[in-house]
Amino acid sequence: MTAVGELIYRALEEGRNKLLEHEAYEFLGVYGLPIPKFALATNEDEAVSAAEKIGYPVVLKIVSPDIVHKSDVGGVKVDLSSEEEVRKWFSTIMLNVRSRAPTARVAGILIQEMVPQDLEVIVGSTRDPVFGPVVMFGLGGIFVEVLRDVSFRVAPLTEADVEDMIREIRAYRVLEGYRGSPPRDLESLKKVIFGLESMLSELEDVEAVDLNPVILYPRGRGALIVDARVVLGEKP
Ligand code: ADP
Ligand code: MG
Repeated sequence: MTAVGELIYRALEEGRNKLLEHEAYEFLGVYGLPIPKFALATNEDEAVSAAEKIGYPVVLKIVSPDIVHKSDVGGVKVDLSSEEEVRKWFSTIMLNVRSRAPTARVAGILIQEMVPQDLEVIVGSTRDPVFGPVVMFGLGGIFVEVLRDVSFRVAPLTEADVEDMIREIRAYRVLEGYRGSPPRDLESLKKVIFGLESMLSELEDVEAVDLNPVILYPRGRGALIVDARVVLGEKP
């Protein structure tokens, strides 16, 4: 079985309709999508050795099949630079989650490379019962949540489709650069969009993928996916 096949099989066997976050990164990595270094830790010592292997600073995130918005339950801490901080926040995150989401199952804590913070965009894909895979794009934060400034395209996507869907959001000027903010790496963004399209087109078990956010750097400097959700379809 392929690496991706195994991840899907294991999740479905365990009755989960969603990959755990570290599994989602393995999955994206197989598709050549840009992800920071990561590891799953189930105790403080593992967290420290993972952080040392990855290199400081790191981010800690709760990994649970029952939690969608990790920050809302005190499940994310960015920019930790020492063993001491990693130990302290490993237990703080566990306590936060235990008190704010007492019934959530916890698989561990993701230790992730802390990458430079910059413009955040969202790329998603879902499977429409009639049209098949549909890809969505927008800028992160209030652009998506408040203004609903997003664009959609139905697969298969051409290069022109992807360019249009990027240009069509109202906030496009933000990507072109304005005042002190430089133009963004749209080539890297396109690769992420095409990557999601191929995942849904090739793998019938994948129902939806959400990358929120993808950090989109200035032109020539790439993009990195720092939060990923992969939802699997219900088997008949
Ligand atoms: P949530 O489940 O709350 O959406 P995220 O994993 O998206 O949790 O993390 C919350 C925010 O923390 C992100 O939107 C991003 O701004 C920041 N962040 C998360 N991971 C990283 C990282 N590896 N490097 C830098 N910033 C990060
Ligand atoms: Mg997120």
